[in-house]
Amino acid sequence: MQQKELERYKALLLAKRRELLNGKAGLEAPVPAAGVLRGDVADQAAAAVEADLQVRLRQTDSRLLRAIDEGLARIDRRTFGACTACGKPITTARLDAVPWTRLCRDCKEGQSS
Ligand SMILES: [Zn+2]
Repeated sequence: MQQKELERYKALLLAKRRELLNGKAGLEAPVPAAGVLRGDVADQAAAAVEADLQVRLRQTDSRLLRAIDEGLARIDRRTFGACTACGKPITTARLDAVPWTRLCRDCKEGQSS
């Protein structure tokens, strides 16, 4: 892949990374422990669901963040754009949609089925 293209994907990855980190800061608001809440059981259940959702969002974020960091590392090593499973180039359309992907479409589909 050309240096110019690598730079473009690097910018995309960095922008997404920044977006994630900013969003994450918003999620750092303390989640009240269910037991501490006054109010009825329904309120407590709602609070528990909310807390659970926030935890799951954080897990998704950190997984994505790791994928982005790995993508940036592959750009530095100049292996970015090649499928890490079969070594074939990943299509530009796919990289534009998911720049942090490390698998070509064939390998990704093979993996999930
Ligand atoms: Zn592949």
